[in-house]
Amino acid sequence: PHELLLYCRPGFEPDLAAELADKTSRIGWHGESQFAPGTGFLRFLGPPDEPINALQRALPLTSLVFARQSLVALSPLTLTREDRLSPIVEQVVESGWNFESIWQETPDTNDGKALSGLIKALERPLASLLKKRKALRRKAGARRLHVLWSAGDRVQLGMSFPGNRSEAPGGIRRLRFPHGAPSRSTLKLEEAWHEFVPRDEWEDRLGEGMQAADLGAAPGGWTWQLVNRGMNVYAIDNGPMDKSLMASGLVEHRREDGFVWKPPCRLDWLVCDIVDRPTRVVEMVERWLVQRWCREAIFNLKLPMRQRWWQVNDCLAGLEASLHEAGIPAALSCRHLYHDREEVTVHVRLLDA
Ligand code: SAM
Repeated sequence: PHELLLYCRPGFEPDLAAELADKTSRIGWHGESQFAPGTGFLRFLGPPDEPINALQRALPLTSLVFARQSLVALSPLTLTREDRLSPIVEQVVESGWNFESIWQETPDTNDGKALSGLIKALERPLASLLKKRKALRRKAGARRLHVLWSAGDRVQLGMSFPGNRSEAPGGIRRLRFPHGAPSRSTLKLEEAWHEFVPRDEWEDRLGEGMQAADLGAAPGGWTWQLVNRGMNVYAIDNGPMDKSLMASGLVEHRREDGFVWKPPCRLDWLVCDIVDRPTRVVEMVERWLVQRWCREAIFNLKLPMRQRWWQVNDCLAGLEASLHEAGIPAALSCRHLYHDREEVTVHVRLLDA
């Protein structure tokens, strides 16, 4: 195979393509993105003489902003109604692939959702055919075959590898809306924690009694998450906070400007969901980190409609350079989360705090 198959939020294919073009050229790779806008996936075709697996490892999924899933892929297949499965099985056998599990998926679009009945019906027969041909087996390095259906007669096969993939179908981490949370936004912070903080570190890094600031907090969806972990929260917003959340006794509401407010002491967390220019938000967070007012930060960058990758890249590169200049070692990552729409989520952790 010499191509990657990547999933993204429908409408963000051009942004993922711009990101890939930029990042691959920086490491001396060249290739071409092929996509149709709004379809929720993208093919990245590398040079035919280079092993695409190396590129997939060089650009791990967690290092990409706009990709939800990253697969090493075979060429797309066009199928007939009469026999959808044989061409799939033959392509797998010919490629020599073997794997421990099969995920049939569809793009995150209405057309995609309409295919769920079809793929359900194919699940067992496909698995049994691939088992017979020894492609689906008990031990195969936890590799997974992804069968992406973009139409009833159109499919592309991809392979994912443990440690460099999303473990959620479609690359979408679905979360249940927590009972009592004051706004839908609450899921953005919860998803960010799942994305950026390994589960076995939650006790240490998101523990009871820690102190946090939530800038642009009202009505309190993010504050609710912090309180739910037992943290004390400064909620900064001119708007009103949810009453029952305030009744927890863990929240101090200040009607101030989040861009100028200073914490009275060093905190563990800064989170910010203010809708403003990305550069303005980044400058504010930068000040927090350089002053070491917090150890970790999660914030959103609201993106304009055009040139989203370049906007994100400018912000992250600027932040990275400033921290480096100030001699502050930090780990920085940025992802377009499922619960993000026209925005991305950034996480920064000071490494010597
Ligand atoms: N994260 C919140 C939640 O989960 O409920 C939603 C935040 S909402 C998208 C943005 C908030 O930022 C608004 O409540 C607005 O009042 C606040 N805001 C805008 N500019 C601000 C500023 N300069 N300082 C503090 N808050 C600000």
